[in-house]
Amino acid sequence: MRCGIENADSRSFYEDYIRDLVLVARCGNRDTRQLFLQRYAEQLCGLANYLQFLTEREQDLVFADALRPREGSLPRSLAGTRLATPAWFNRRVSNPFNVWKAEASYCPERVEIDPMCRMIVDPLETPYVSRRNGVDVYFCCLTCLEQFERGGNVANLSLAS
Ligand SMILES: [Zn+2]
Repeated sequence: MRCGIENADSRSFYEDYIRDLVLVARCGNRDTRQLFLQRYAEQLCGLANYLQFLTEREQDLVFADALRPREGSLPRSLAGTRLATPAWFNRRVSNPFNVWKAEASYCPERVEIDPMCRMIVDPLETPYVSRRNGVDVYFCCLTCLEQFERGGNVANLSLAS
């Protein structure tokens, strides 16, 4: 249940972080990257703030740079390095690049937003899907799905930020 990630152990939290990073770096746009930066602002410390104010093109470059550990190389820029291995995790995960190795084959194709909690979701991975008005809606966890199906706030359905 990823909504409660703060309670998860550091390694699986870092794995979630990397998967979300790969998801928005490969498939995201400015909106989903903003959600990512907001979600992990605490772990990214000042970097989240800094990245939010870059142009879209500059953000693209930093996120692409942060994906280099997937190919076994190091990011070239300081911002890319900090995005790939935030200091918050480095103090808690003994070898962050081993986690990258384990996630190297993860290749998401598109990204969706959970309308209940606004987490970014890989629609091909999550088992929590509901259909409303002929449209599939994706959730991060069972709790969000159940809230939605109990008549969750329709106002939250707007995927635009
Ligand atoms: Zn959720």
